[in-house]
Amino acid sequence: MAFKMKYPIVADYLPKGTKRRPGKKLKKIVFIVAHDTGNKGSTAKDHIHYYRNSPHISAAAQLFCDDVDIRECIPALLKTPERANHVIYNVTANNKLYDATANEMAIGVELCWGKEINSKKAYNRYVWTLAYLCYKYSLDPRRDIIGHDSLDPRRKSDPTNALAYMGKTFNQLITDVLAEFKDCTASKMLPAPQVPSSKNGKTHKVIKGDTLWDLSQQYGTTVDRLKALNPEISVTSLVVGSILLIERAKGRATTSQKPHYHNVVRGDTFWGLSSKYKVSVENLRRWNPMINEKALTVDSKVLVGYTDVVTPKPANMSKQKVTSELQAFLDESPVRPYPGKTLKRGAKGKDIEAIQRAVKVSVDGVYGMATENAVKAYQKRFTFLTPTGEVDYRTWNVMF
Ligand SMILES: [Zn+2]
Repeated sequence: MAFKMKYPIVADYLPKGTKRRPGKKLKKIVFIVAHDTGNKGSTAKDHIHYYRNSPHISAAAQLFCDDVDIRECIPALLKTPERANHVIYNVTANNKLYDATANEMAIGVELCWGKEINSKKAYNRYVWTLAYLCYKYSLDPRRDIIGHDSLDPRRKSDPTNALAYMGKTFNQLITDVLAEFKDCTASKMLPAPQVPSSKNGKTHKVIKGDTLWDLSQQYGTTVDRLKALNPEISVTSLVVGSILLIERAKGRATTSQKPHYHNVVRGDTFWGLSSKYKVSVENLRRWNPMINEKALTVDSKVLVGYTDVVTPKPANMSKQKVTSELQAFLDESPVRPYPGKTLKRGAKGKDIEAIQRAVKVSVDGVYGMATENAVKAYQKRFTFLTPTGEVDYRTWNVMF
């Protein structure tokens, strides 16, 4: 699977061994921090020029995107990635969310904006750059791209600020990165439509442009639940004509499938895994669309197959079943990073907007009475959630 190079990336490297570019190679890329420059009208070239003239300051990002250029001033995509100090050290959210420190395990990408800079063109380059980073480092845009303002909310408002100027939200950005990823990795040969083995219940036939996120909104469910119900589908490229299970038929015993992962060790290849787990290389590719098979990362997870799990009728629902269903949610980390604290009445912001979309109330980003009641109703749908009207980690994990 190759990635479509829609734009050139210009190498405009800072001299090594300065505070801006210490020259330390990064061992592993775990996530991406989305920034904006906070500096209206200043281009990628301007910023790198400024960096070059102030080598004694440590703040830096690897990549800058504006309306004409994608510039790499510290290696990230063109060469072995190197450290840049784009998130202040006393921030702890990155360790909580990713168990990693941004400057040591994340790439920082800056969006240039305002004044003479054409918003649409700059945004498109930013989206493509983020998608290419996800491809290159086998990251999932929904989970592994975070805004600087989410990591450091007290001090930072980027990239939300520049995005708002461009008429976009952070969620829109992630949706666009996902679409770009799909577009840039789409192979010429369309794979055969995928049909779930146990489509007993409400189904949806995939049409052009469908994404799991859209379907989750359309049917009042979550991306995680759709993934759990349709383990054999490729989440990043839904195939037109595939039948997706939206909701399982009630009152009947059903089978579902439990995914099996392989932890990559040095020397693994898709071909090797295919004979080890008796699956075709084709299936490995389909099940792991985010993984670059030519550069398997040690310790990353490769989906290698499924086993059938029989779920008893709801009437016989035992405590054990509740626990295992809950466990299934908790085993998968939420696609949207948990903000680190319980969200309740009075809270504001992007996370509240996401909750409001999930529980289907009007989206204004303010956790009021209507949101609380809708969250309560949502929680009542799950035996293992307590209807508190507050979104704690467990509720969050089921929602996202
Ligand atoms: Zn920033």
